[in-house]
Amino acid sequence: MKNYKMDTLLIHGGATTDPRTKAVNFPIYQTSTYAQQALGQNSGYEYSRTKNPTRDAIETLIAELENGQFGFAFASGMAASSCAFSLFKSGDKILISSNVYGGTFRVLDKVFSNFEITYEIIDMRDVKLLESKIDSCVKAIFFETPANPLMQVVSIKELVKIAKKHKILSIIDNTFMTPYLQKPLDLGVDIVVHSATKYLGGHSDLVAGLIVTKDKNLAERIGFLQNSIGAVLAPFDSFLLVRGIKTLGLRMQKHCENALKIANFLEKHKAIDRVYYPFLKSDEGYEIQKAQAKAGGGMISFELNKKYDYKRLCQNTRIIVLAESLGGVESLLCHPASMTHASIPKEIREKIGIKENLIRLSVGIEDADDLIADLTQAIDLAKKS
Ligand SMILES: *Cc1c(COP(=O)(O)O)cnc(C)c1O
Repeated sequence: MKNYKMDTLLIHGGATTDPRTKAVNFPIYQTSTYAQQALGQNSGYEYSRTKNPTRDAIETLIAELENGQFGFAFASGMAASSCAFSLFKSGDKILISSNVYGGTFRVLDKVFSNFEITYEIIDMRDVKLLESKIDSCVKAIFFETPANPLMQVVSIKELVKIAKKHKILSIIDNTFMTPYLQKPLDLGVDIVVHSATKYLGGHSDLVAGLIVTKDKNLAERIGFLQNSIGAVLAPFDSFLLVRGIKTLGLRMQKHCENALKIANFLEKHKAIDRVYYPFLKSDEGYEIQKAQAKAGGGMISFELNKKYDYKRLCQNTRIIVLAESLGGVESLLCHPASMTHASIPKEIREKIGIKENLIRLSVGIEDADDLIADLTQAIDLAKKS
């Protein structure tokens, strides 16, 4: 473990230099297998599903960034969270926070349910409610903060306290914050999961997932599952992810700065009824967010006034691209009700606050004034006559 500050670790953490050639960028070991010196004698590498040097580079890097001990890289964020859910067995129950990523809900609801691993959705802002739901079947809590698309914040410290008291695992999806803004392992969380497809990769050019833990016993079980199930990250994608992470600090600073400017702009705009951004002082989660994260991140949602047509807004931006996903350098716009959250039935969607007029912005690192001008002209064009 290198004892550097975050901005240095981003560049020099993990296995950066090639030990053989001293190449400054760690090479892509595009190989499935490795020559063995004799029977039972190898260089530490036998087969690339089990271990690959380029994957080692990203796995050690993310472990250092999250202040953990053990990192694991997967073919997607869903492969990472599915690996974490594979720690459980029939009869076990996982409590999940409201508004977890749709794919996380789907894999529990439609896949792990087949193996009698059950879940219950809890509004974990209410810690008393959470505690009242813990019985002998409950083996873990799984949560996101801030959670998409209403950017709801839960207190990591409070949730960890409850998990420890009841001797159950705490698992967090830290995709929205990244270790640059929030370090859950330092607050006592057992397992951190990432969709590295988003901010960590940062350029919308790869799909990847990560797990980090400090616990040796958990790491052994996760490593076993990673190798047994086999959804590992490829060497080329491991390289791309290491490369993307080098600029994570600069990117996150700009994402956060731009997002705060845009959130302030939207909050004052007469066409906008409500803005959800956890670093706005008016936001319900502000105090907790300030206590546990460095900034508010790059994700904003807002409700457009009924005098405006949200469909017209979505099709009239010039710089901001209408697309799913988030966390890349380019700004993206999405309509949760018909895109990311379409699989949730309308009544439930409305109940949990995902209204028809809700729009989600993944704020990129373009010039903030250009983004604000783009939103201004698109909102103007969306006014109903
Ligand atoms: C995208 C996302 C995932 C799933 O990750 P993939 O890389 O798409 O499999 C999980 N959690 C959150 C918060 C996400 O945004």
